[in-house]
Parts: sequence; structure tokens; C-alpha cells
Amino acid sequence: MDFININGLRLFAPRSREEVIQQAFEKKKILVAVNAEKILMTDNDFLQLMSSNIGYPDGFGAVALLKKYGFAQAIKIPGVELWLDIIKRHHKDKSFYLIGAKEEVINKTVSGLKKEFNGINIVGYRNGYMQADDVRALKNDIKNKKPDVIFVAMGSPRQENLMKALQSIHPAVYLGLGGSFDVYTG
Ligand code: UDP
Repeated sequence: MDFININGLRLFAPRSREEVIQQAFEKKKILVAVNAEKILMTDNDFLQLMSSNIGYPDGFGAVALLKKYGFAQAIKIPGVELWLDIIKRHHKDKSFYLIGAKEEVINKTVSGLKKEFNGINIVGYRNGYMQADDVRALKNDIKNKKPDVIFVAMGSPRQENLMKALQSIHPAVYLGLGGSFDVYTG
């Protein structure tokens, strides 16, 4: 997949969602939604995260920039759609772990997904409000269960920091989802 590099931020120029999903599974990376605001970020932690992971365009500004650099076929991929697309394509052959939002929201998200995607293998989930002890327990659970895909919906930069910490103990596909569980459960 082609990409551009702006101030150390690698932004991929996908022609399809499948391309992004395939790359994520192949490389076991964190998928980061990039919009105009993120393109302008100079924070070192963020740039370091971006240098070794997959930034995909989820805003008009990011797509416009890719087009300006010659990638006329680059498409916009809204994060929440990428989330459901990954599940739709892989609920029969991959395992999933969900982290984030309030207790009732994560419970409702999991039961909604089980209803919508028959046979989905959700190996674990928890709300996004954690003390140090909870993070330790979460890390152990992830090490034991080894999920293929981990969705984290806790807002930025909280979710990026957690994904980085988890990635160092268990390589998987990671997708940060902001407030998507709240949106999904209405
Ligand atoms: N959230 C969470 N843990 C936290 C704070 C927020 O899981 O410590 C969840 C919150 O319940 C919501 C999502 O993160 O589902 C996005 O929250 P918010 O819009 O407040 O985040 P922001 O993007 O503004 O940081």
C-alpha cells in the first residue's frame, strides 16, 4: 500500500478498506484514524506511534492531502465503519477483545455484536475506566487469551497510550475507536 510521509507522520493512501484490513492483519499493527488535526500534531509520542503503525485517512483533510500528493484514488475510511467492516469480514475466523466506554455501554455493545454477527468470538471485554491494578489484570488477560483483534474506545490520547502498552506485550491488530461504542449502542 502506498503512503506519504509528512513531518514523520506516515499516512497510507488506501484504494479500498480491504487493503487496510489486509495490511493490519499481515503486519499486526495499530490502526490510527488520521484527520487534519492529527496531521498538524507535533507531539513526540504521537509521531513515534505513527512511525511504526498504520495511519489511515478518516477525514476530508487527510484525503485531500493524499490527492494533492498524487493519490487520486485514495478513499476516506470512517473509523466506526472500519470497525464494523473488520468484524463483518472476520467474525468467523478471528478472535476479538473490546475495551472502553462505561460498563453498561460495553455490555450492550458486546450483546449487540453477538446478535448482529452470529458466532463472533469475543474472548474478553471490559469498560474503559481502570486503575493501575485493572491495567495489570487486563495485560495478563490479553497475554493469556491472545486475541487477534483488540478494539479500544476510550478517547485520545488515552486509547493510543493503552494500545501502545498492550502492543508491546501482545502483537495484534489494534483499532482506536473514540466514542464509537456509545454511538453503536445509541
Ligand atoms: N472513556 C473511557 N475511559 C475514560 C474516559 C472515557 O472508556 O477514562 C470512554 C467514554 O466512556 C466514551 C469514549 O471513551 O465512550 C470517548 O469519550 P470522550 O468523548 O469523553 O473522549 P474524548 O475523545 O473527548 O477524549
